[in-house]
Amino acid sequence: MPSAPAQRATAVPNDLEAYWIPFTPNRAFKAAPRLIARAKDMHYYTPDGRAVLDGTAGMWCTNAGHNRDPIVAAIQAEAAELDYAPAFQFAHPKAFELASRVAALAPGDLDHVFFCNSGSEAVDTALKIALAYHNVRGEGARTRLIGRERGYHGVGFGGISVGGMVNNRKLFGALLAGVDHLPVADELERIVTLHDASTIAAVIVEPMAGSTGVLPAPKGYLPRLRAICDKHGILLVFDEVITGFGRLGHAFAAERYGVVPDMITFAKGITSGSVPMGGVIVRKGIYDAFMRGPMHVVELFHGYTYSAHPLACAAGLATLDLYRDERLFERAHKLEPRWAEAAMSLKGLPNVLDIRCVGLTAGIDLASRPGEVGKRAYDAMDKAFREQDLVIRAAGETIVLTPPLIVSEGEIEEMFAKAARVIKAVA
Ligand code: PLP
Repeated sequence: MPSAPAQRATAVPNDLEAYWIPFTPNRAFKAAPRLIARAKDMHYYTPDGRAVLDGTAGMWCTNAGHNRDPIVAAIQAEAAELDYAPAFQFAHPKAFELASRVAALAPGDLDHVFFCNSGSEAVDTALKIALAYHNVRGEGARTRLIGRERGYHGVGFGGISVGGMVNNRKLFGALLAGVDHLPVADELERIVTLHDASTIAAVIVEPMAGSTGVLPAPKGYLPRLRAICDKHGILLVFDEVITGFGRLGHAFAAERYGVVPDMITFAKGITSGSVPMGGVIVRKGIYDAFMRGPMHVVELFHGYTYSAHPLACAAGLATLDLYRDERLFERAHKLEPRWAEAAMSLKGLPNVLDIRCVGLTAGIDLASRPGEVGKRAYDAMDKAFREQDLVIRAAGETIVLTPPLIVSEGEIEEMFAKAARVIKAVA
């Protein structure tokens, strides 16, 4: 009998070559990897067992903390119960339950939820719904989409077209036609005048731009956008992929800023990062506009094999229970002053140019070394992991901290004390 192939017992891969790592300098990483093997609550553990404090909630996603028991149990139970059900023409009960729960958290008449698997898919879905919505209402000339300079909306062709990050756009051709970008809210009036309102479908913005380094919307910005969009029949989309589910102390940033958009995109925090999931919440009027014509005809020709995947729905329900039972959104709100005070303690350290906080989020701009934009923050991230047992994020030359919402006051102190040591180390 042929012998069974030897099991690979090692927890540490010994060949790093095959994996093309996303948004990462691959050669530098493979020369000196940063590996994470396990996680629990506020900490990661390296393959050699070092505990590393998570200052970034994964990538703005593990808002309830890592490997929380109720979420793990829900995923395990669902995997044993229903691995998959067709997402088109069939459905499973937890998809409806989760949609209702998400809609209940959203403001106003944002009552219907379309599920997908990531923030990028959520953005592309929202843009397609916007175009189709105008079409089904007989305003098919509304094809233009407006984003914002420095906006980040994921990496689909729709998302990079409305996004404003040059490195994410410049190698990928002509992108979507008919897209414009806002520098400031009032500029929307000029863009409307230029193109005419009858050609504009939607405006998409992050209520707080995270991936470009924590840029809260200036006071009055979002209400102003809402007013201009209302005046001209343009849909307003808030991309809440990172601001959703408590990051700014509310279920959605829309609530914090008191502005009801026409659609909200979400992902990440919906499952506390445990299973990929994204989605779009739409206002009742948008959904209703599609619900006509013969009963047997598909109303929106869009969807994904894994829309509302059972494991993601189970994880989402358990996550929303945790947010509710542990009052984690309120917790984020209450911690905000303490958090901001700790962040501001970095003022005056070498190369610190600016510090911005909103919710449980901090962006710390560093001065670049001559000719090496981004290198200082990248080195800070690397040193934080290796020497301070802390995960931080480098966004360009900005250090970004966005902890799980279960972070304790002691861990906040620890995080900024470690960040201070790192900033001094890269001086
Ligand atoms: N939109 C925003 C505002 C984001 O911050 C992100 C990711 O960080 C995305 C969309 C893309 O999400 P994903 O990476 O899940 O596709």
